[in-house]
Amino acid sequence: MPALNEAVLARRGEIAAALRAIVPGEGVIDQPTALRPYESDGLTAYRQPPMVVVLPQTTAQVAAILAYCHREGINVVPRGSGTSLSGGALPLADGVLLGMSRFNRILDIDYEEMLVVAQPGVTNLAITHAVEGEGCYYAPDPSSQIACSVGGNVAENSGGVHCLKYGLTTNNVLGVEMVTMAGEILRIGGRALDAPGLDMLGVIVGSEGMLGVVTEVTLRIRPKPETARALLIGFPTVESGGQCVADVIAAGIIPAGMEMMDRLAIHAAEAFVKVGYPLDVEALLIVELDGPQAECDHLLNEVVRIAELNGATTLRKSNNDAERLAFWAGRKAAFPAVGRLAPDYYCMDGTIPRRQLPEVLRRMRLLSEQYGLQVANVFHAGDGNLHPLILYDANQPGQLDKAEAFGADILRLCLEVGGVLTGEHGVGVEKRDLMPEMFTDLDIRQQQRVKCAFDPQMLLNPGKVFPVLHRCAELGRVHVHGGKLPFPDLPRF
Ligand SMILES: Cc1cc2nc3c(=O)[nH]c(=O)nc-3n(C[C@H](O)[C@H](O)[C@H](O)COP(=O)(O)OP(=O)(O)OC[C@H]3O[C@@H](n4cnc5c(N)ncnc54)[C@H](O)[C@@H]3O)c2cc1C
Repeated sequence: MPALNEAVLARRGEIAAALRAIVPGEGVIDQPTALRPYESDGLTAYRQPPMVVVLPQTTAQVAAILAYCHREGINVVPRGSGTSLSGGALPLADGVLLGMSRFNRILDIDYEEMLVVAQPGVTNLAITHAVEGEGCYYAPDPSSQIACSVGGNVAENSGGVHCLKYGLTTNNVLGVEMVTMAGEILRIGGRALDAPGLDMLGVIVGSEGMLGVVTEVTLRIRPKPETARALLIGFPTVESGGQCVADVIAAGIIPAGMEMMDRLAIHAAEAFVKVGYPLDVEALLIVELDGPQAECDHLLNEVVRIAELNGATTLRKSNNDAERLAFWAGRKAAFPAVGRLAPDYYCMDGTIPRRQLPEVLRRMRLLSEQYGLQVANVFHAGDGNLHPLILYDANQPGQLDKAEAFGADILRLCLEVGGVLTGEHGVGVEKRDLMPEMFTDLDIRQQQRVKCAFDPQMLLNPGKVFPVLHRCAELGRVHVHGGKLPFPDLPRF
């Protein structure tokens, strides 16, 4: 992480007072015990209480806070609900944590344009709750949707079960209001599917809180499909399950969701939610089809036919919504369910070409034996987005390091088979040091230039996403030729 700025730390009291002048009342937190809840996000292996927390309520306050920190050279870390699994909202000891939880209002619902304008602290699920009375919903549905904020979703370009058919956050955001580190208020995109000028929205979505603080989001909503039915399909091998996924897509069927769990995850989920998952299978596929009733029934039968050709041993169709939701209950609760198997788990997020599923799962089993750590697999099979959950015990010396090394090897494996480092959880601090394995120095430099255009002093969420080159050098990943470090102008934290 960036070297501690002792001079800033020494001015802690003065900085808290300046922030209180901007956000009066209870909007500034600087008591050590009250800072504790902010010390980590969903990647709890990393903890660091911030210097001070500020909880603004208006865009003008956000702009004033950022302008002040910009002037004074103070680092700022934006935070939504703190559910990031890549450490994106990990605070800095000498930084201000800018919490957006008080931006919790829905500002406009327009059923003619089929959009919702919301403040960024509104939770993902609250958008659907706000429009479901009119038969509408917001499609991207991370498993954390009850808690995660739409601002965090924009920053991480979050996905979920229904993103296979309806796209990730980036395909469902029409516009944002965003404040730059210098305190300038920008409006990017709008209320329509396209906006004039450069596609800046594409740059902002997924920028992990490093380009600006989002203060308003305009989201597409959709009419709820007439019917939704789900299939629960068990396979004797992971390979046959993986092949079924590939065959369904190859048949031109795009299910609303297609998720797979391996044996360990199936058993954990069933013990947790007791919905009748088969326990004698190696892989469980949940496939949801939606649309007009006739189309849905036809596609459901097609998927059954493909599953049978792939040797499915269990096949159950949902006949009503309660059954469909029961099929999903285990999958939705898979993370907490696996959390009961070991004191700690480390959730990875790599993406691979679908056809590589069986090979990657086979090699992951070998890695699991090599590291002596169990791994449960839950994944968005249709997208090839894996979520291996590595079980470990942080109280056992060396186990966290082992889990991290295992995780890094899984991500390397994803790259080796033509995949990418992240599907939906972002890079954050978690995958930062692996960036040079995916991108060339030139690629990274170009990405960093975009960061420099928005935040030349690197004050907003520093230490995230871009690799720490000196650590890479320690790991032998930087090629130093003739004593010359490549790209000496690249900031090294
Ligand atoms: C149990 C569990 C299940 C999960 N399942 C999924 C899943 O299915 N799919 C998925 O994609 N993710 C999933 N996640 C990860 C996480 O929920 C998402 O990344 C989510 O979008 C983070 O939102 P948040 O509000 O919690 O953001 P935070 O964790 O607070 O922040 C995440 C990043 O966004 C930035 N940020 C937050 N708000 C703003 C803002 N207003 N302006 C600018 N930057 C901002 C932060 O600086 C940080 O870099 C899961 C997490 C958990 C704990």
